[in-house]
Amino acid sequence: CKNIKKNPLKPNFKIALMGLFLNLCVETMIIFHKISDLEKELAELRRKGLSTCFVPTMGALHQGHMSLVEKAKSVADLVVCSIFVNPAQFNEESDLDKYPRTIGADLKLLDQEGCHIVFIPEAKDIYAKNEFSSLQADYGSLTSTLEGEKRPGHFDGVATVVNRLFEIIQPNKACFGLKDFQQISIIRAMVKERRLPIEIIGCEIVREPSGLAMSSRNSLLKKEDLEHAAIIHKSMNWISQNMEKESFGKLREKAILNIEKAGLLKTEYLEFVDPDTFDKKDVSKSEKPVVVLFAGWISGVRLIDNILVQD
Ligand code: AMP
Repeated sequence: CKNIKKNPLKPNFKIALMGLFLNLCVETMIIFHKISDLEKELAELRRKGLSTCFVPTMGALHQGHMSLVEKAKSVADLVVCSIFVNPAQFNEESDLDKYPRTIGADLKLLDQEGCHIVFIPEAKDIYAKNEFSSLQADYGSLTSTLEGEKRPGHFDGVATVVNRLFEIIQPNKACFGLKDFQQISIIRAMVKERRLPIEIIGCEIVREPSGLAMSSRNSLLKKEDLEHAAIIHKSMNWISQNMEKESFGKLREKAILNIEKAGLLKTEYLEFVDPDTFDKKDVSKSEKPVVVLFAGWISGVRLIDNILVQD
């Protein structure tokens, strides 16, 4: 592990929030690469009575990730963030290869945000004998529809890595973004099924001023694409505002036409599902609560977004 500069928390704030004791324990952001080193450190901190909130990421961090770290800081004594581009959840090698990696900038952001511990493991340590997907995530429509259908094996990879990271870190809480609405629903189902004593906290989607959901993949897009991709959120908003007037079928048809009219974006799916079960809603009706989920492509980059509409 390697210590980097002093935690920038102000003294008064630290004393008020965590007390002198924690101050002495966690003065620096510590970076771990080896599982055994991290486990040893966390066991020691647990013995001292400190609670932990975990933020798993794949790096190329932005303000969306930082909102999770900020939330984590407010609900636990210690924030542990992981950076691991998980090969098991990629369907295509080319997608894995081109996934943005910005480790230096990531560490700077995490340090500025007041993260306490960063875990950067290697795939060979996370996956013994290169067995990528040992866990099979099967939670009915939650895993079989939308991302589950379009990206076979993706959620097995996500569940496997999150479960493995939970085993190593043993957090009291963990923060996930609602941007990956299906993912957090599956993590909740997994935690319930495996009876893990971990509270899962959902964090609101952080957006660019244009409305585009922040995403690591946005950095692969040109300025024109980024500007154009704002149509996704605008169309989802339009759907939520017109639910009283038209059926889901009609809303979907018009929204896709609008999203695709400039010929830059291609819709992979735009679906209306029950937010708890992910069962598809009857398109001839318009019934709340509903979560509207979108996936589409622009200049070879896949973007997802969603909007939850409740009464
Ligand atoms: P990733 O690095 O893409 O695997 O994301 C790590 C975590 O950050 C996941 O829980 C994501 O849902 C969350 N996240 C990514 N983008 C955003 C965003 N724009 N707003 C809120 N959370 C996000």
